Amino acid sequence: MFTMIHLKSPKEIETMRGASKIVAEILLELRENIHDGATTADIDKIAEDLTLKKKAKPAFKGYRGFPASLCISVNDQVVHGIPSPKRLLKKGDIVGLDFGVIYDGYYGDSAMTVAIGEIPPEVERLVKITEQCLYRAIEQALPGNFISDISAAVQRLADANNYGIVREFCGHGIGRSLHEDPPVLNYVQNGKGPKIRPGFVLAIEPMINLGTDKVKVLEDGWTVVTADGKPSAHFEHTVAVTPNGPEILTKI
Ligand code: MG
Ligand code: MG
Repeated sequence: MFTMIHLKSPKEIETMRGASKIVAEILLELRENIHDGATTADIDKIAEDLTLKKKAKPAFKGYRGFPASLCISVNDQVVHGIPSPKRLLKKGDIVGLDFGVIYDGYYGDSAMTVAIGEIPPEVERLVKITEQCLYRAIEQALPGNFISDISAAVQRLADANNYGIVREFCGHGIGRSLHEDPPVLNYVQNGKGPKIRPGFVLAIEPMINLGTDKVKVLEDGWTVVTADGKPSAHFEHTVAVTPNGPEILTKI
């Protein structure tokens, strides 16, 4: 596979810090607005209003025709859930918020999964381990490592917990485009992938299922759900590789 990786200069990374900071601040506010009785469209509206207030542009709205600013994926929805005024959030839900902006010509992209009230212990564990998968993966985003070291870190922890790793979707390079090379898989496929160098900026995003790794896309053409109806969790950060190691640009 031919890959074309755009290395970012320190100046570009500085600009990307700005875009990513906006993403992090908005996700934090969204998390605080997630509650029993809100609709997923309500949360999308908050995301869009905050983005415009910060003079940024929602990255996902209109992306390949996606109709909203926020991807909001509840319970068995894995990613790319479309906000709807008919979808009421309720206690016991887990809610995946995936959000990006474009600011000063550069993208930032981040995601988190939030629980509403009490959730079953096995679901709580899924959410916690998925977040841990992300941080284990980020630790591997070091100059001299390979992209597959990131993938392997996710896979090790997910496999140790007998979770299903979503294979159809993956992380990605990010910069002037939302999705750039290299792809960042959450499992090791074949070969080591590209060698990681300072100037890589990666959106690392494990998508982990409680049950089967199999997923399907609903008739809306976007919403990805688990094939067995069991819950799925998703966490993502935009990470710059510096000579000193990884820097999480979307850190809250
Ligand atoms: Mg994302
Ligand atoms: Mg992403």
